[in-house]
Amino acid sequence: MGDWREDQELVVMEGRIKVPYRWFAGEVGTRYFESLRDERKFLGTKCGACGKVYHIPRRNCPDCFAECSEWVELGSAGTLETYTVVRRQHPQLAPLPLPYGYGVIRLDGADTGFLHLLYEFEEGGLATGMRVEAVFADEREGRILDVRYFRPTKGVS
Ligand SMILES: [Zn+2]
Repeated sequence: MGDWREDQELVVMEGRIKVPYRWFAGEVGTRYFESLRDERKFLGTKCGACGKVYHIPRRNCPDCFAECSEWVELGSAGTLETYTVVRRQHPQLAPLPLPYGYGVIRLDGADTGFLHLLYEFEEGGLATGMRVEAVFADEREGRILDVRYFRPTKGVS
């Protein structure tokens, strides 16, 4: 008996598999997210050897592999290092009404940037090097979207 597929055109279907999952954030991640949730404060960790301050915090320095044993409280504002503006709606990916942005933000006191959302900006109003500030969610759950987005700072910075 031959393979039934030999004389058949294969039907290929496209889809998307949704796989819900949960995992432990780890000791460093737990402390970080609890601080965001309970105190609206960003924490970083400082490398005991080279002194680099990481945000998002890390247990070990990826540059010199030493332990990042010191916790550092960071500002809730920082510098926009790079960004892009999203103007096309995608129903499964759009977290905010258009236009919104994605930016790499280096918080005050940190030596590294992290990716987050940008919103409440004028068209053409974003620029590399500009000051941005965090807007926290009223209801926080201990996750990165406890910070809804960053926006250009309103005051003098
Ligand atoms: Zn280091």
